[in-house]
Amino acid sequence: MSNRARLRLVGISAAAALAVPGAVVPMAYAEGPAPAIDVQLAPTPQSEGYPRQNTLVEPPADPADASIKLGLTPYHAIAPKLNELQQTSQRVSAEVLGQTVTGRELYLVTLTAPESAAETRAQDRMRERILRQPEQAAKDQGLAKKYKTPIFLNNNIHGNEWEGTDAALRLIEDYATSDDPAVLEALEQSRIYVVVTMNPDGRHDNTRANASGFDMNRDFLTATQPEVIAVRDALIRTQPMVMVDLHGYVNGTLIEPTTPPHGENYEYDLFIKHAYPNGLGMEQAVLDLGYTPEDDGVNPPQIPFRDWDEGWDDWPPIFTPQYAAYHGAIAHTVEIPLRVNNAAYDLPEEELQRRSAINTDIAHAAMTSSISYLQEHRGELLADQIEIFRRGVTGAEPVDVTDEIFPEIGPEDVYLTEYPRAYVIPVDDGQRSAPAAARVVDHLIDNGVEVRTTRRPVTIEGTTYPSGSYLIDMHQSRRGLANTMLGQGTDISDRVDSMYDISGWSLAALWGADVATLAEDGPRMPPAGRPIDAAIPSGRVSGDGDLLLELKDPSDVAALNHLARSGVGIEWLDDGSILVPEDAAEQAESTADAFGVTFTAAPDGEGGTPVDEMVVAAAASSDELWALNEMGFEVREVNAAVLNDGFDYSDVDALYVSTSAVAWSSLEDSARNDLASFLRNGGGLVGRGHNGANLNNELDLLDVTLERGRSDGNGVVAVDNADTAIASAATPESFVYSPAWFTELGEDVTVDQRYADDDVLVSGHWAGTAEEGGQDAAAGQALIVSGVDNNGAAVLVGSQPLFRAHPKGQYPLIGRALFWSALQD
Ligand SMILES: [Zn+2]
Repeated sequence: MSNRARLRLVGISAAAALAVPGAVVPMAYAEGPAPAIDVQLAPTPQSEGYPRQNTLVEPPADPADASIKLGLTPYHAIAPKLNELQQTSQRVSAEVLGQTVTGRELYLVTLTAPESAAETRAQDRMRERILRQPEQAAKDQGLAKKYKTPIFLNNNIHGNEWEGTDAALRLIEDYATSDDPAVLEALEQSRIYVVVTMNPDGRHDNTRANASGFDMNRDFLTATQPEVIAVRDALIRTQPMVMVDLHGYVNGTLIEPTTPPHGENYEYDLFIKHAYPNGLGMEQAVLDLGYTPEDDGVNPPQIPFRDWDEGWDDWPPIFTPQYAAYHGAIAHTVEIPLRVNNAAYDLPEEELQRRSAINTDIAHAAMTSSISYLQEHRGELLADQIEIFRRGVTGAEPVDVTDEIFPEIGPEDVYLTEYPRAYVIPVDDGQRSAPAAARVVDHLIDNGVEVRTTRRPVTIEGTTYPSGSYLIDMHQSRRGLANTMLGQGTDISDRVDSMYDISGWSLAALWGADVATLAEDGPRMPPAGRPIDAAIPSGRVSGDGDLLLELKDPSDVAALNHLARSGVGIEWLDDGSILVPEDAAEQAESTADAFGVTFTAAPDGEGGTPVDEMVVAAAASSDELWALNEMGFEVREVNAAVLNDGFDYSDVDALYVSTSAVAWSSLEDSARNDLASFLRNGGGLVGRGHNGANLNNELDLLDVTLERGRSDGNGVVAVDNADTAIASAATPESFVYSPAWFTELGEDVTVDQRYADDDVLVSGHWAGTAEEGGQDAAAGQALIVSGVDNNGAAVLVGSQPLFRAHPKGQYPLIGRALFWSALQD
């Protein structure tokens, strides 16, 4: 862990990652001689058996918990309940998975019949064999008989969608004591894993998001939040065959599978053959409860795959079930029906409690019917999970789902990828960004993807990648996950009219690392070592005398902020790089180590502008604040009320505005004057989207007009970077959501970044013609502009460089924009 922890000093994600207890099955891989295809199993950990009766810390009773009004279980009552059930039953094991942002505990309950330590070790070995030796596992009769089939029930990820938790507690209590032969059999044959609440902070506070303001059901690809990291790790190590994620509120109950488009990296034939019948089973279980529209206001369930054309898709792997599918799960979102949150939370208590009781029944029915499906089809589910991993390991062609395989399928449901043979990420000097390569590699490893290092150089399309480069062999069990992360993705604008959420996300395009694709018919695979357990530390100082730090990665910006804070006399050069004086060599050395960044010998030349500690006032979304924090900025969150209250700008260097929290119309005259004078006297403005542009116009800074494309357009876009201090080191792809650009540019406006002249959208969904704000309307248009005059310096941004803390390769643009704007006279 220590290697990787060191590489993650950026922001508080390091602390978050470390907060997760080391319960992951250790994969004690090491570099060493091994065949290119390594099928050795990890050594078996010294498991305890079951039950694991951990006494949970019982928090003090808190009458402010928002669950109480609904007649539901407040967070503080969960631990006492689980402690009691553990004492009365040998079938209940409660563990702490990790902590929330505010320090509340995340409980994982395992329901299973008692196991000796030896039995648990045998189960661990079988799970490893299913994943890593699927061909052998498929023939292993003992495994088919003995393996306890895992199911994973995740609850309350959205804090104000409460009842999954209460249904889970009912399930746990039932299973703790039941004499029902079906329950006893399930306990003998399966492991039922229950995350009681994934968002205790939101449960208590009546919020959808966690305490950092993140929608965690959009965070599974990036995994920035401690709760997501904890549940992700639990999904990886439990490898469930069936997974259900409980949400609200859609009436009638919404039960996945989804509409198209379907993620093109799933083994969808093996997925839908179970997901649909399990969905039908959940539907029947809900209907069997007997609630009616007339008497109860409960409409019959709906299954998007069957009942809708589009609009509820499983395309991006940002949602919990869609992520879980890449670990072999038949996974569903279920939306229980009766709204009790938002405005409905103000209904009379009696009505709220009536609704919540019904919702709890329905969530419970979804869980129990999924356990029944697991029990009735355990042999086939096991064989199909093994087959998913077998296709990966053997590099089998994806299977085209025809109506012979699955009668309900239509051509609109078929999305197939072509897997490359491998991806190669160089580690040597001269690449785009060493910390970015390390970040991508560590992220892949954290997600259970195998990464090796090459033993010989490999040349791909004219570029030679030296021995020691990272190799991600697509012949591996989790190839679907690896490919969805490392592939460029697909432009699906023509295939569907509307999408539920984002449609492009490529880490290869957006995280700033060089990622080369070795085609199936490309050069021979270079030999490689065994899977590594962490990226090679990327920090170094090469050269002596004055040193240069280029700002190509969020880690570079974090290193800059760290050096500025330690007062070593660094300077900002005109090209947007940083000069570190010779006498700060020791600080450079330790900074390189801590942040994984590279310092090179500075060219001879003029000095630059001294850089002091940077303070940013920000009216930004939670994800942008998170990203600014990852880059090490000291951030003061502001809004109109704060500015109207006589905000003290004296130690603020730049203002970042992307939300309407600081709108000109809501500022009083004194606040307007203070802001204008802050900018006139050397403060900088970085504005994003129309809120940033509006403020710019009111302050009479840059002479530009903001144009907006289709508001639902989103994805990875190709960009051209100008050779300016702000954009010269930027990556050639960016991310947009509700894309915008700037026209009618005044003479003094510099264009730092444009949309590419053609093929604007690399991957994602951005429909419409040029006249309708489609991709063509944006081609060649200015995406980032800057300028300075007597009124101040400003940078305006039409893209989303900090979106959900995801496009990390574009963060430094904002970092450089903040420094540039603050350092103009
Ligand atoms: Zn939800």
